[in-house]
Amino acid sequence: MKYSSIAEAYEKIEATTKRLEMTDYLVEILKETPTSLIDKVVYLTQGKLYPDFVGIEIGIAEKLAVRAVARSAGHREKDIEEDMQKTGDLGETTQKFMKKKTQATFFSVPLTVERVYETLDKMANSTGSGSVDLKLSLLAGLLSDASPSEAKYIVRTVTGSLRLGIADMTVLDALAVAFGGGKETREQLERAYNISSDLGRVAKLVAEEGIERIKQFKVLPGEPIRPMLAERLSSSAEILEKLGGKCRAEYKYDGERIQAHKKKDEVILFSRRLENITDQYPDGVEYIRKHVKAEEAIVEAEAVAVDPETGEMKPFQELMHRRRKYGIKEAMEEHPITLFMFDVLYVDGKDLTLQPYPVRHRYLEKIIEQTDNVKVAESTIAENPEQLEQFFETTVESGSEGIICKSVNEDSVYQAGARGWLWIKYKRDYRSEMTDTLDLVVVGAFHGRGKRAGTYGAFLLAAYDPDKDVFETVTKVGTGFTDADLEKLPKMLNKHKISHKHPRVDSTLDVDVWFEPAVVIETRGAEITLSPIHTCAMNVIRKESGLAMRFPRFTGKYRVDKSAEDATTTQELVEMYRSQLKKIDG
Ligand code: ATP
Repeated sequence: MKYSSIAEAYEKIEATTKRLEMTDYLVEILKETPTSLIDKVVYLTQGKLYPDFVGIEIGIAEKLAVRAVARSAGHREKDIEEDMQKTGDLGETTQKFMKKKTQATFFSVPLTVERVYETLDKMANSTGSGSVDLKLSLLAGLLSDASPSEAKYIVRTVTGSLRLGIADMTVLDALAVAFGGGKETREQLERAYNISSDLGRVAKLVAEEGIERIKQFKVLPGEPIRPMLAERLSSSAEILEKLGGKCRAEYKYDGERIQAHKKKDEVILFSRRLENITDQYPDGVEYIRKHVKAEEAIVEAEAVAVDPETGEMKPFQELMHRRRKYGIKEAMEEHPITLFMFDVLYVDGKDLTLQPYPVRHRYLEKIIEQTDNVKVAESTIAENPEQLEQFFETTVESGSEGIICKSVNEDSVYQAGARGWLWIKYKRDYRSEMTDTLDLVVVGAFHGRGKRAGTYGAFLLAAYDPDKDVFETVTKVGTGFTDADLEKLPKMLNKHKISHKHPRVDSTLDVDVWFEPAVVIETRGAEITLSPIHTCAMNVIRKESGLAMRFPRFTGKYRVDKSAEDATTTQELVEMYRSQLKKIDG
């Protein structure tokens, strides 16, 4: 398959702002792709070579890419850099310089997708001494045979700035139409994706074997399952009503969510965002190996930092000491963890994701050997609001941020990748005057003035609407930031800087700097109000009004464990607004 077909599709996708058109272009290109290549084309359109959990990134530094472009276009690095200052995008600059070159020469062998993929893969996998030179010559070689437009996309891909804005959900829509037999098969494809987290594999399977094969898709140890998430309510009575009068209420631990996969002696740990974090928790690996009594299993736990002196639980922030490459051993001794196990999704050949929670819980109790550092999450069965309230009070007294109430009905399956009403969280702060904290995505920023000159003064924050797959603005935040935060934030954000509003951001406000949705921060406000300028839930509650958070503050917590699509959703904000009204009325 010619790489030019892909580059042409990219050009079209980039030119549209409509998600439906984007899907149509994707369908076209997928249909054109030989089935043996489908997975690779899917990864490439998302700027990747593998699913995220594999953890292999192409990651070529911009400087190296500039050298490769200079070499293959026959120009000085300085010229390329100067032009890049103007365009703000090495891709565009590359295209320009390659055009100049093609006026003089003409290229002979057309690039194939296979060759591009294999070369990028070699680059991604080359490490150690000599790897820089190897990467440089591989990239320059590719670029020399590329057309200007192809060169633009190759350069963007290798520097991690492809940003076509094609979300997983858009790919699933396209797969349903291209190979599933129609839009209605999207749900089955989504389930397969939710339990494998591998869009490429799902794509290839449906293209090669059809939708029937997708319906039989099962979980597999080693492939992370997208996490099930909880809705929220603010009273015991409401919760029980929603769950049919009975639930298992569990202590909500404040740590890091871990999905552990055990395959005999091998143990892999995945984070909430499904990154492979095995290396951060050698102690966790050992606990799973020894105390999960099954040959193969997938279990979920909250890893909580405990005080080695007193055994008391410490807040989430303490686990940040584990997010590093070196010095893990020291961090492990200073900040030991306890694993609180709360679900099991697979045991020795049995996929449990479609089993009701009581069945899964029985398995959990059976396979977990409890020790000081490995425990099954504390819980109780509650059948009336008083019982539930009492459990809530005791957990809060012992320092928990609240409880998670889980359905025990027949249909209480593990809803991979979804925030639903089978799990409902009930937190301490829902009961205070303040609304709950919101995890919002930074989509834009305003330059600072006065004391904040030279850094950012305020940020435009957005919630996520999974139905529309867009980010809708909710508030502008400028308080709660320490000097250290103001120094750190530009470093975190500038990698995501773009020259225009991101196609998946919906905003009526203009800002000084736009970002692609990536960085998530926790904020707390005084209340949620109707607003004509913010686009969150526009026209949902009232015509021409969206929802906004008033008096927002940054809480100091960077939700590095969340991707932009894990941010608080528009639908959650609507719920919060409604329950706030109820409280005022009541
Ligand atoms: P939050 O910011 O409140 O942690 P979240 O968006 O990360 O929310 P939710 O699904 O809303 O995730 O809340 C559930 C989270 O609580 C899980 O992701 C998990 O990390 C944590 N947790 C702690 N104890 C439990 C438990 N017993 N059962 C399930 N999840 C638990």
